[in-house]
Amino acid sequence: MKYINQIDLKGKRVMFRFDFNVPLDNSQNITDDNRIRAVLPSINYALDEGARIIIISHLGRPKGKRVPQMSLAPVAKRLSRLLDKQVLLAGDCLGPDVEKMVQELNPGCVLMLENLRFYKEEEANDDEFAKKLASFADVYIDDAFGNAHRTHASNVGITKYVKECGAGFLMKKEINYFQTQLEKPVRPFVAIIGGSKVSDKLSTLINLIKKVDKLIIGGGMAFTFLKAQGIEVGKSLVEDHLISQAKDIIEQAQKLGVKLFLPVDCVIAQSKSAESVTKIIPVQEIFPDWMGLDIGPATITLFREVIANAKTIIWNGPMGVFEIDAFSRGTSAMVHALAGSHALTIVGGGDTDVAVQQAGESENISYISTGGGASLELLEGKILPAIEALEKCAN
Ligand code: AMP
Repeated sequence: MKYINQIDLKGKRVMFRFDFNVPLDNSQNITDDNRIRAVLPSINYALDEGARIIIISHLGRPKGKRVPQMSLAPVAKRLSRLLDKQVLLAGDCLGPDVEKMVQELNPGCVLMLENLRFYKEEEANDDEFAKKLASFADVYIDDAFGNAHRTHASNVGITKYVKECGAGFLMKKEINYFQTQLEKPVRPFVAIIGGSKVSDKLSTLINLIKKVDKLIIGGGMAFTFLKAQGIEVGKSLVEDHLISQAKDIIEQAQKLGVKLFLPVDCVIAQSKSAESVTKIIPVQEIFPDWMGLDIGPATITLFREVIANAKTIIWNGPMGVFEIDAFSRGTSAMVHALAGSHALTIVGGGDTDVAVQQAGESENISYISTGGGASLELLEGKILPAIEALEKCAN
């Protein structure tokens, strides 16, 4: 795969695919602009090289319809402020007006096209749509890691029609942390996997167990593993159909000499609500009609000990229902433990990223992914369609 700095950009029309799918409040204010800040190195590099910059992205799920609330206007405004430079926003991503704006674009100028997903052809990876987008560019750079696990026209189809294509610096960084670094990790290598369901992360667990020295399982998914060990977990989240798979993972860990850690105590309640009465209890003593919603203090101490000597730590998924204060202690304790560790600490996007921000520790984590789904698929050992397309395009 080629990277942006291996391609001549001078004077060229360089089309960037970014993932500017940022969260907006009800008044269309951006509540977190990390995904915009994360691609500034690529844009600045292209500006320094004297490129004419065309930006394409999606935002939200307009499902092929023009939804004004999902316009990229707030993104163009924020990017303009971050670059301290005008960012023109086209009213569409195709059509004669866009064509004219692209033709008139001068070197060092930035043009953003409107939300790609206003066309259903984008998610359908429609060939004609991809060809039309490609016609605007001399060079295509994909820096939309958050969308790299999808096969869409703007990140896969388009690569067949552009003259030259490559990956941006964000893509390079994400691949480095979630693939390259983990091929030969500095050991001890510890993975912490949490979140709600085993089913969502089964392939990740199966892939990671072969690579790590220690595996910590927390969150809702831990209860399927506890039940697999014959522990009654009351009304806690359990996926009964996956108990035999959980047993296999436990067995495989033993065979491979991987140390597997599960919660020893938990915070329980009768329902998943802020008003419920809570108790802290060993996992063996969960009441039949109560549920485990966070790891308990003994588990926090145990997990802290486990990661104390780690040299590489990867974390995906909260330790409890961290959205509710009463069940957020376990997750925030793990954030602080990672932040204080001397290891290379790599955090998956999505909920884990939110938990790190809530705890105010973003600066103290080595790398936080901008793409939850995409980073998880890399951890599963999958080849992401967008990356595969860039590799093919380079050959
Ligand atoms: P995921 O998207 O798989 O990483 O799951 C994140 C979600 O898991 C969060 O919304 C948490 O509220 C939820 N979660 C974490 N621990 C538990 C638990 N013990 N019971 C139910 N849900 C949980």
